[in-house]
This record gives sequence, structure tokens and C-alpha cells, in this order.
Amino acid sequence: MNFQHVFGKLPETQANAPGRVNLLGEHTDYNDGFVLPTAIPQQTTIQLSLSDDGQHHFYSENLQERVSILDINHSPSGFASYIFGCIEVLKQAGYTVPSLNVYVHSSVPMGSGLSSSAALEVATLKASRQLLHLPIDDVEIAQLAQQAEIHYAGVQCGIMDQMASSLADTQHILFLDTRTLERRLLPLPNKTKILVIDSGVPRTLAISGYNQRRAECQETAHLLGVKALRDIADPQVTETLPEPLNRRARHVVTENNRVLEVVQGVTPERFGELMNASHASLRDDYEVSVPALDTLVEILQKTPGVFGARLTGAGFGGACVALVALGKEKAATQVLEQYKNAGYTGKILVPNFEMNDAA
Ligand code: ADP
Ligand code: MG
Repeated sequence: MNFQHVFGKLPETQANAPGRVNLLGEHTDYNDGFVLPTAIPQQTTIQLSLSDDGQHHFYSENLQERVSILDINHSPSGFASYIFGCIEVLKQAGYTVPSLNVYVHSSVPMGSGLSSSAALEVATLKASRQLLHLPIDDVEIAQLAQQAEIHYAGVQCGIMDQMASSLADTQHILFLDTRTLERRLLPLPNKTKILVIDSGVPRTLAISGYNQRRAECQETAHLLGVKALRDIADPQVTETLPEPLNRRARHVVTENNRVLEVVQGVTPERFGELMNASHASLRDDYEVSVPALDTLVEILQKTPGVFGARLTGAGFGGACVALVALGKEKAATQVLEQYKNAGYTGKILVPNFEMNDAA
């Protein structure tokens, strides 16, 4: 299938947006903190044309599913909610959006923590911007995409995923201050690659766990008399808090500090150590890891050529990210074998990709 098969004409415009992987700074974005995502090579493409019949028509090649929306006041579920949400937030921002034919195809793995949802939203908004000549910039695109995800897909997400999909590229790490939206593109440490492996364990408790952690962080910030945990820099401050809020806060404070250390410029070895420390903190203090993720991370950390590894995304299942030395790409196969021997089935989601090609 392609656009023409589905809609009987050629698309008028198209736009792409990548998925992302977060290298460091986990569970910090809803604490006004710092994150270090990068774009992955996989992208979502949206093709658009005006619809002639007053209805929106959405087609996902990945799901082989077509949705037509008769009532423009009706909020659809499933993948259509993300696209419909983007159209609705544009309207709420004051733009006139006509009925659209929308064709989605994507190489971003869905539901694996690589943010196929943000890629879908950002690509939809960027394609709409082109088609309708909307005067919005890439930051506004990210903000509209986040609104669409919160209000139409019903996911209480921070701004990281959409900012990464809208502004990051595969040649840099995007340092983002999620409070001020100040950002900087940083190089990856020399002679390293990034590897992402799925643990094979679905993120079943992810939504309830995520919401609980968000609530704990809010309560902790309130107890400490700050707007958000981002306002605490000294981990000692968290020692006075009751269990488990002391450990939740310690994770956020130390995680923010780890990101800020990377921004100062670090060796691959130090970057790896900080990733390892992040995993330990997510496992012991934030308690969002599961045995499969711990096993996969442990195997990665022991593999020659791997500088460091951690769970990435919200946790409770999902994927791990590792920093690998150039020339040691075979490590991935070795890791999968050992992981299998431990009783799990992993999968390479993003094969080692190098950022410094252009440098
Ligand atoms: P992640 O963002 O980590 O991939 P989410 O659960 O946030 O996981 O988003 C996945 C959802 O986004 C899918 O279930 C689907 O509804 C929607 N989605 C993303 N990409 C596509 C696509 N190419 N086609 C249809 N739906 C998609
Ligand atoms: Mg998502």
C-alpha cells in the first residue's frame, strides 16, 4: 500500500520525524530537570493531502488500519487519537485546519520506549506546517505535540520526547533544560557508538508506576519548599525526607548532576560510569527497574568494549541503552547470547550507530 492506493491521489507534502533514545537524565523531565536524548536513525513519515469529503482519513501502514472521522467533535482512540490530537491543538492555537488525508509509515519500533508516539505527533505537525504554511517553529511544534499526547492520547508525558523528535539529530546529543527549554547540541564522546536492546519484557506497570513516581516527586518538592526537584542540587538535602521520598529525590538530584557533568565534557569511560550510576540509582532509589533489565544491563556492563549501560525510558520493562567502543560492535551479538542463557529473549532495536560520522 502507498498513499495513492489508499487515497486515490498523490500526497501534496510529506515530513519526517525520528524516534529518540535518552542517554542520561531519566525521570527528570517532569521535575523541570535536565535530559540528554539523541535522535535514532529510525523515522516516522507523514504524507498529507486535503480531503475532499469533509472528513479526516488516517491510514497507518504499520497497523494496516484506516480510520475515518465523521464527526469532527468526536475524539477517536488508538493511533488516530495522536493525529487527531495534533489537528485539534493546531485549531486551539488559532489555526484553520481543513479535513486531511494522512498516511503514516514508520521504522520506529512502536511501544518500545523509543518514542514512536512523539515521532508520529511531530511528523504530523511538521507536515501540517508545510501544507498549511503555518508560522510555527520547531519548539512550538514540540509543545503542541506534547499537548496532543496529554489531552488526546491521555498520556501525562513531559516535554523531552517531543523536543528530541523535533530538534535532535543522529549526529549530536541534545542537552535540554526542560524548565527553560534552553538547549545545546553536544558531540558524543569520540570513537563510540550507541546500541539499544529491547529486554523483551513489556512495560506492563509503566503507566501506574510512572504516575506514582510523578506524585511522589511533587510531594517531595512540596515538603522541601521548592517548585520542583530541579531546584535541589545537593543530594544531602534529601536525607531529611521520609522513606521512600528520600530515595526518590536522591535519584532525581543525582541524575540531574550526572547530566550536568556530561555537559562539561567527559571521556567515554566517564560517560559510561555515569550511565552505570544512573542505572543503579533507577534500580535502588527510584525502583523502576525489573530483573530482566538488571540482567541485561549487568551483561552489557561486563562485555568488553562497552563503556556503560542503563535502562532507558520509564522502566518497568522496555529497553536498555549502551555506549560501545568503535570496532566492538560484535558485543551486541555476544550480549544477546548471554541474555538468552539467562532465560530472556532480547532484540536489537537500534544497531550500533555512530554519531561522529560528520565530525
Ligand atoms: P513509544 O512512544 O515508546 O513507542 P507509546 O505507547 O507512547 O510508545 O506510543 C505507541 C503508540 O503510538 C502506538 O500504540 C500507536 O497508537 C501510536 N503509533 C506510533 N507510531 C505509529 C505508527 N507508525 N502507526 C500507527 N500508530 C502509531
Ligand atoms: Mg511514547
